[in-house]
Order: sequence, then structure tokens, then C-alpha cells
Amino acid sequence: MKTVSFFLIVILFIMISCTNTNPIEEEKADDFQFYLEQFADLKILRYPVFGFEELPLQQKELIYYLSQAAIEGRDIIFDQNNKHNLAIRRTLEAIYANYEGDRENEDFKALEVYLKRIWFSNGIHHHYSTDKFMPDFTLDYFTDLLNTIDEAKLPISKNEVIKTLVPVMFDPAFDAKRVNQTEGEDLIATSANNYWADGITLAEAEAFYAKMKDPTDRTPVSYGLNSRLEKVNGELTENVWKVGGTYSAAIEKIVYWLDKALTVTENDDQAQVIRYLIDYYKTGDLKTFDKYNVAWLADQNSHIDFVNGFIETYGDPLGLKASWESVVNFKNVEATKRTEIISSNAQWFEDHSPVDPRFKKEEVKGVTAKVITAAMLGGDCYPATPIGINLPNADWIRRDHGSKSVTIENITYAYDKASEGNGFLEEFAFSQEEIDRIRKYGFQADNLHTDLHECLGHGSGQLLPGVAGDELKAYGASIEEARADLFALYYMGDIKMIELGLLPNEDAYKSAYDDYIRNGLMTQLTRIKLGDDVEQAHMRNRQLISKWAYENGKADNVIERVSKDDKTYFVVNDYKKLQSLFGELLAVIQRVKSEGDFEAGKKLVEDYAVKVELDLHKEVLARYEKLNLAPYSGFVNPVYMLEKDDNGEIVNITLDYTEGYAEQMMRYAKKHSWLPTYN
Ligand code: ZN
Repeated sequence: MKTVSFFLIVILFIMISCTNTNPIEEEKADDFQFYLEQFADLKILRYPVFGFEELPLQQKELIYYLSQAAIEGRDIIFDQNNKHNLAIRRTLEAIYANYEGDRENEDFKALEVYLKRIWFSNGIHHHYSTDKFMPDFTLDYFTDLLNTIDEAKLPISKNEVIKTLVPVMFDPAFDAKRVNQTEGEDLIATSANNYWADGITLAEAEAFYAKMKDPTDRTPVSYGLNSRLEKVNGELTENVWKVGGTYSAAIEKIVYWLDKALTVTENDDQAQVIRYLIDYYKTGDLKTFDKYNVAWLADQNSHIDFVNGFIETYGDPLGLKASWESVVNFKNVEATKRTEIISSNAQWFEDHSPVDPRFKKEEVKGVTAKVITAAMLGGDCYPATPIGINLPNADWIRRDHGSKSVTIENITYAYDKASEGNGFLEEFAFSQEEIDRIRKYGFQADNLHTDLHECLGHGSGQLLPGVAGDELKAYGASIEEARADLFALYYMGDIKMIELGLLPNEDAYKSAYDDYIRNGLMTQLTRIKLGDDVEQAHMRNRQLISKWAYENGKADNVIERVSKDDKTYFVVNDYKKLQSLFGELLAVIQRVKSEGDFEAGKKLVEDYAVKVELDLHKEVLARYEKLNLAPYSGFVNPVYMLEKDDNGEIVNITLDYTEGYAEQMMRYAKKHSWLPTYN
């Protein structure tokens, strides 16, 4: 039954994409189960892999092998996030799997929620705020449960659990923050991630990597990207993540599946990408990683694509060490026509951007953008996943070879479907007109924003000679995200969007502006605990932009703060002026980035992006609580089912969408968990 209904959705979706109408409006088939469950501040969704069934067998096989490579590295991100994460996860999983007492009482339910949260954030710290979250059951209860479990089933002895893990789990002050970005503190010593060994100070770490850098090198490797810095007898040394090095057990499995993938590649370019990646995993050589990235950019004709490796550096306060992640995907050919329009006009956008000509690219190179369908999420992209990706990250590769950017539309689609009718807009949008506009254009405008942000925003502009790109330090990520968002916001309000057929009319960008301002000034606060500052880079970016525009547009009443029935609303009065404010701020932010002006970057972020107005925050949380929603979403993966003939040859691969969240996590723990408990 499920399969039949799902086919219906696929067919409908294809029809809809072809006619370019809004799927949200038109989509009638709602048998696909997008929403699974909700706990703490998290909800679990499922994404449909539209179009998989129609792929030729060889491409299905390629996706299958890459999807296995995407799952095998999962333990790595747990260990990277905190050195006790694997021990805690495995201890709780042992209890969860084997406890034979009452599983229905509140204490056990609390333990279950705690474990589900750990699965979600790949460790004991919140995936977004990076604050440690605390169990809602007592130490006594935990100890009782632990004592009923056969010691052989635990990853470490019971004594070790009590001695080592209990303080980590139950003492709020111990390893309280995974990534500390508080200005003036030792960001390394106070961050609980596992990228830097205990006892290493910020000054030591900075000095270690400063020594490696050659300011005359125009094509530097990404120093420190794939290693943990250790301190042995007072000497600093890198433990590289590779076959035969740290995380070898997981990386060997990844390489095994990449080798399989090599047997079914679509073309030589794609095969070359996989060969470089295997070589990099075997050697840990960052020069090979650069070669891999350049080859990945050159592979333009493959239908199937993937990311697999140590990629993003958000988890390291210094922005050097990369977390392990994977996304396997294939092209959504129909929707990609939209991004092709954008990328083929990239030079026009660069030329007309409101920034100082010195900071513009004279020649925009290799901007490629596509809309993709995610087929498997892994590591740092699972279960919480980005909706757009722009890679590679190395500035010189982007300068010389361009970048690839993607919008993951089956994920944004699932978000949209899951949020239908949840009451959120009705609560926070000021007028019915605003609500209607978002219903009509929201999905389209959001996707276009992501396209512009990823494809043009991050790829736009240039650094002045002598600027390396890491000068902004802990403020760098927020400034970079603001730059990309502003590029998108500024151009969404340009008539060019309608001329290019990317938006139907002016109402569409207005809905995007309403949405952005409401979120940046108000509703994103639902993601923060009362009294806390804004810390996550994307959130800082959104508040920076919204607050700056609000403050700097005050004289003209561009954005108005309205109080109605004791509720606060932010209402955009002048969309054209707001667009020009976005342009002004883009010019400022681009200068900060291009010149590497740390002080100016710091001031912008500290003045606009960090502090929260307590009363407003209280009000927003109270209004939100009544809706009983969860601000964060993550996804379970589909299960790939092999159909084989009598000789064991694969004859077809199908997707199963029935696996539950805990079920999937326990299966991964059993079948795809390779690392020692401590690495
Ligand atoms: Zn971004």
C-alpha cells in the first residue's frame, strides 16, 4: 500500500515540477509520512527520494555504495564532538537494548529521550546551541539501571562508567559547551570538542598553525583540517585521521564502499574524484584532498554526486578542524533549470552588486549550481541536515576553480509538508495578507533564497591581496553567512528576478522579506534558552542583518515594531528601502571580509548579532510554547533494499520508508559502528 501511494506522489511531483507551479499548493497526495515524532525541542521527519525508482540500475548501485560509505563514518563525528560521546552512547544503547524492567515509567522515558537527543546531536551537546543538555532522570536511577545490565554488554566497565561518565553526564559545569566562541576566553581550553587535546591553549594552537603558513603560498592546503592536535611530552603533534591512523576502523569501511562505487561510476571524471578521495583517506595528505576538490569541481556531467569527508569547520572555534560528513545525491534535472539561469547570469550579479569594485570578482569563474535530491545523509549532516551546500571551502580553490552549490529540494519540501497547518504563521505574522503571501510564495522564495545564498552569495566577491581569509577568527563564520544572505536578499528584491522568470511577481520577494525580518528579530529566538545570547553562526547572521536593518531604517520607519493585543510584531512598511538597506550592509560586510578587518567584524557581530532583549524573548517563548512545536528538525534515512538473482547479482534496488527513528539508530549502532570507544 505504502509503495503505491508513494508512486502517486512521485508522479504528481514530477508533473508539478514540469509545470512550474507551487507543489505546496498543488500537492494532494499526503500518504507519505513526513512527520515521525517529537521530543525535547526536536522533531523527526522523513524525506522522500523522488525519482530514485526511475534511475537505471547502475546509478542505483552507485547511490547504494555511496550511501553505505555515508553511514560508516557515523562514529567519527561522535568522537570529534566529545571524547566521551561514544562511551556514553554505547552505555545508554546497552541499557536501552537490554533493560528488562519497567520501560513505561517516567524515568525510563526520560532516559529514552536523553538517548534520542544524543543520537540527534551526535553527542551530549545540543547540535545547534552546542550547550550540554542534561538528563531528566536521577543519578540513582541511572545507577540502578546500570546494575541490571550484564557488564559484558557495556563499552567500558561499570566502575569506569561511574568514575568517568557520570560527571560528564550529570555535572552541568563539566564540558558545558562544545564550541565556545565567547570573546576573550581561551576558546580551545573552554570548548568540549575533541579536536584539540586537553591542556592545549589557544595561544599554543594558534602558534602551531601560524608556523606552518607561508604567506607567499597562493595555493595553501587547509592546514589542520583532518587531524587532532595532541600534546605529547609537551610537544605538539598532529594525529591524522586516515587509514592506519586515528579513526582507521571507520575510514577503512568508507574506503571499502568507495572501492565498490568505483566499479559502477558513470564516467571517468567521476571515477577520478573517487580515486583521489580513496587516496586521500589512505594517506591523509591534504594536497591530495585539494586535488580531489578540484576534480570534484571538474565533474560536471554526472547525474550522481556526493560529499564524503572532513568538510565543515563550524565545530572548531578556530575554524581549522573539520567534522566528518556525507551527503549522497542526484540531480533534480527539472528544478535545476532554475539554478542554471542563476549561474549563467553570475557575472551580471557580480557586476551589479552594491559593493566597492575593488572587492568584486572581475571574472566570475566556474559558478555551478544545481537542485539535488538527497539520497542519504551521514555524519555531521545526519539527522539534522543543511538545505543548501556550497563547496569546496578552500578560498584559493574557489578563486581558481570556482565552487559547486546545491539546494536540496526534497529536504526543503519535507520541511514544508511537515509544517503545514501548525499555527506558527498565524501566531507570529502580523496580517492575513502577510500569511496569504507566504502560503502562496514561501516555498518558491525560500528555495530561491537558498540558491542565491549558496550559488552566488558565498561565491561572490574577492579578498584583497595579502588577506588570507581567516583574519575574522571566531566572527568569520557569522560574517560569511551574512554576506551570502545579504547577496540573496538584495537581489530577491531586484526586478531582474522577475525578468529572469525566477519569481512570478513583486509579492514573492515581499513574502521573503517579511519572513526574514520576523525570523531574525523574533521567531528564531524560539531556539534559544531564556537568558542566553545568540551564538550559532547562522542565527547570529540573521539577527545581525535584521537588527541592523531595523535600527538603520528607523528614521524612515522601514520596519515597524507593532504591539497588538499584548503581542509584538515586526512589520515591513517599505520593501524598496529595506532592499537598499540590505545593499548598504552588504557593502559594509564585503569590505570587512575583503580586508580581513577583525575589529569591524567583531563590532558588527557584538553590536547587532549577540544580545537578546529579555522581555521580547520571554514573550516569544511563551507564544511558541502554546503551539507545542519543536524548533529543530532532523531526518531518518530511507533503507536501501537489494533484490538479487540466484547468482547473487543485484537486479534492482528499492527504498523502504518504514524504519522508525530509534530503530534506525539502533541498527546503525549494531551494523555500522566501527571505532574503539576511545580514539
Ligand atoms: Zn551559507
